[in-house]
Amino acid sequence: MNPPVRCGMCARAIQPGDLRFALLWKIYADYDGIIDLGDELLLEKTLLAVEKGSARDLEEKVYMESRHILCPACREEILETLSSLEEMRSEAGSDEEGGEERNLH
Ligand SMILES: [Zn+2]
Repeated sequence: MNPPVRCGMCARAIQPGDLRFALLWKIYADYDGIIDLGDELLLEKTLLAVEKGSARDLEEKVYMESRHILCPACREEILETLSSLEEMRSEAGSDEEGGEERNLH
């Protein structure tokens, strides 16, 4: 028999037929279109970092995505964390970035 599926957060075993969720996340460098060529020191540091880092490191800094199985309790916890972040942001009254692309239900 296959080992039980486990929650990616709390590691609880999820039995066949039990409710479970898949969490897909992506995190990537958000490019604003501005490269400051005036800051030579920063440019030099960036180039050095690129030379030193492995291709994989660099790739992970620019783009990462992953998929995890979650139990219902951990799903709730993640949704609560995300909505409290949004509440904090709206309480701070700043929405100037306007980069909102919500897809939560
Ligand atoms: Zn869990």
